[in-house]
Amino acid sequence: MMPSQRAADPIPAGIDRPIAKSAPGWGIEPEAIAGEVEYRQQSSREANVAAGAAVLAPAATQGLSALGAAVEPVAMPSVSDGIGSPELPLWIKNSVASALPPRQPAIAIVLDDVGVARGHADMAIALPPAITLSFMTYAQGVDAMAAKARQGGHELMLHFPMEPLDSALDAGPNTLMVGLNRAELLRRLDWGLSRFGGYIGVNNHMGSRFTNDPQGMRVVLEELKRRGLLFLDSRTSAKSVGEALSRAIDLAHASRDVFLDNEISTNQVDRQLHEAERVALEKGDAIAIGHPHPATIEAIRAWIPQAQAKGIAIVPLSAVVRRRLGYSG
Ligand SMILES: [Zn+2]
Repeated sequence: MMPSQRAADPIPAGIDRPIAKSAPGWGIEPEAIAGEVEYRQQSSREANVAAGAAVLAPAATQGLSALGAAVEPVAMPSVSDGIGSPELPLWIKNSVASALPPRQPAIAIVLDDVGVARGHADMAIALPPAITLSFMTYAQGVDAMAAKARQGGHELMLHFPMEPLDSALDAGPNTLMVGLNRAELLRRLDWGLSRFGGYIGVNNHMGSRFTNDPQGMRVVLEELKRRGLLFLDSRTSAKSVGEALSRAIDLAHASRDVFLDNEISTNQVDRQLHEAERVALEKGDAIAIGHPHPATIEAIRAWIPQAQAKGIAIVPLSAVVRRRLGYSG
């Protein structure tokens, strides 16, 4: 681990880490761990809720060159061609162009919790731009950090706190909780969605209780659809209704396949990256979620050229969503 920057830069030991270290990614309950509790105690809600509502104009979609070595530059229509077309959903407009041949195995890596620790956010932004970054709604200065990431060619996601099963945990300000009425859910959602711009969609921070609740989730997912965003289910709960409900309302969506850093060591992250490879070779593509821990970042950086040498494309999240949805645009 890097030395802590200062008190305001607390990197939790394991946000979203599942309990069972050897369990497969599906169906785990990540909240009830020491790292989360420590994180809750260190976080300063008051300092973080000063809501800068500045919405950045969506950054111009980067060209293929922005993806650098992380994506093979194969000629095909770029999604950026559609910018300005009013019929395109926002998640397409805000996506980073990528070239993904139809049958090439592909992996999207999403680092979430980004921005809670600024030093680690900078390290994440310095990764090759094919890595998608999901910024925490309540991170201080999140608009500037997200803009920097987007300018660096990263695709952006918004990481939204949702209620965990363990009521002792605090997911953060304006957490989406079971039992809140529609107006309050929409108010909290709007608060988070207004923190910065240029993202393609939302994935849940914690949420092992909220994502199980069809009533609340319907309000949230319908609003994401209305705004043209996609939903990535982090799958912190086996009982999440995210995927089924998204399908029912025709919301662009995907679900995580692999958690990378349930154990924070380069060896373990490397093992999980190979698990993502296995899924991608079996299913065609895989979505892996990790966190901006130095060990995770180091392992990803070392792994990318190895995966590419095996013919696996490392792509922004939107590329996998488009493929899974059969979206040709
Ligand atoms: Zn999280």
